[in-house]
Amino acid sequence: MPPVGIDLARRAAAPTVWRVDRRDFLKASAAALFGLALGDRWRLAAEDSLPAGWRFGLVTDPHYADADPKGTRFYRESIGKMREAVDRLRAERVAFLAELGDIKDMAPGEAETRTLSHLVAIEREFQRFGGPAYHVLGNHDMDNLSKVQVLAHITNSRIAAGRSYYAFSHGGIRFVTVDTNFMHDGREYDHGNFDWRDIHLPPPELDWLRSELAAAAEPVIIFGHQRFDGDGVVQVVNRAEVREVFEDSGKVLAVFQGHDHKGAYSLINGIHYYTLRAVIEGSGPENNAYAVVDVHRDLALTVTGYRRAVSMELAHRTASAAAQGRTPQNS
Ligand SMILES: [Zn+2]
Repeated sequence: MPPVGIDLARRAAAPTVWRVDRRDFLKASAAALFGLALGDRWRLAAEDSLPAGWRFGLVTDPHYADADPKGTRFYRESIGKMREAVDRLRAERVAFLAELGDIKDMAPGEAETRTLSHLVAIEREFQRFGGPAYHVLGNHDMDNLSKVQVLAHITNSRIAAGRSYYAFSHGGIRFVTVDTNFMHDGREYDHGNFDWRDIHLPPPELDWLRSELAAAAEPVIIFGHQRFDGDGVVQVVNRAEVREVFEDSGKVLAVFQGHDHKGAYSLINGIHYYTLRAVIEGSGPENNAYAVVDVHRDLALTVTGYRRAVSMELAHRTASAAAQGRTPQNS
């Protein structure tokens, strides 16, 4: 099956879905489903480790700064939007919260200390969640700071301080968080000294990703900032190479990403690529965006979008079906 591109703009007029109906979860054993779903290359280590169903929360691109609005970006409002998102996601009892990058921004020419204060303010709001919480680094996080500075002012639950890419397990799923804020020569984004279109997942991290996926005893969900699907300037330049690593593992269910503020969705070789809409775009709470992802026992995922975020069912395709549908990518 060729990649399916869906123009999310066409879906914008649809009413926001505020609640997903309770579903009847499949009663079949997780072990049987996993064996069927993921083929011979991989078997679940702990066959009964996937709970009946659970959920996590997603938010991306708040771009918070104590700065005047510019175009469609209302920097100051992101504090209030994050507050609503966190309150709602707590009420929805998500197991953890992930932020997919560009948590903060900056006013033109401001001092580094002021940029740090924006980061501290939005991180405080994010951590009001009170449970496990994780970050992906975005390009704007390093527009007036180094990665070391950013990482010193954010917390990823039970992850060693200073890690910009890492993995953790929850509810029978391995979550792998990547950092694509590297230039073509492997240099890190640092204090705005980068071209935001020069986006790479560099060889050392690619090696780490390969070994992380090889070692994973569970199905995998990827969190990233810049897109791995589609073609344009908001995509990771070496995305085809990275997608091949995802695909070759036979374990990746879905990739959740940000950066492309309007949102997007693709299905490529059996892997879902869902780009969440940005918090920053537009004034007023009605222009907020955040989501709950329900992880079902059959490995299907239900994205419930709040405010402008798009709701979507991400059905699980078997590895063999995905392999049959494998088509050459032109990116
Ligand atoms: Zn970005």
